[in-house]
Amino acid sequence: MAYTISDQCIACGSCEGQCPVGAISMGDGKFDIDADKCISCGSCAGQCPVGAISE
Ligand code: SF4
Ligand code: SF4
Repeated sequence: MAYTISDQCIACGSCEGQCPVGAISMGDGKFDIDADKCISCGSCAGQCPVGAISE
């Protein structure tokens, strides 16, 4: 089960560099996680200032 980013995302970009597999990128007005790349390590979730990332 991949992690996902909700509409709460304020597009700060903090999570992008945290991902060891490069699964996070800017999408349409918010950042998105590529479910095919995500290995569910969880390191991005703790980085989000608004709690927009969950499993
Ligand atoms: S859970 Fe890990 S692998 Fe998945 S998007 Fe977040 S940092 Fe990347
Ligand atoms: S850290 Fe949170 S608010 Fe910032 S870009 Fe990532 S998901 Fe969006």
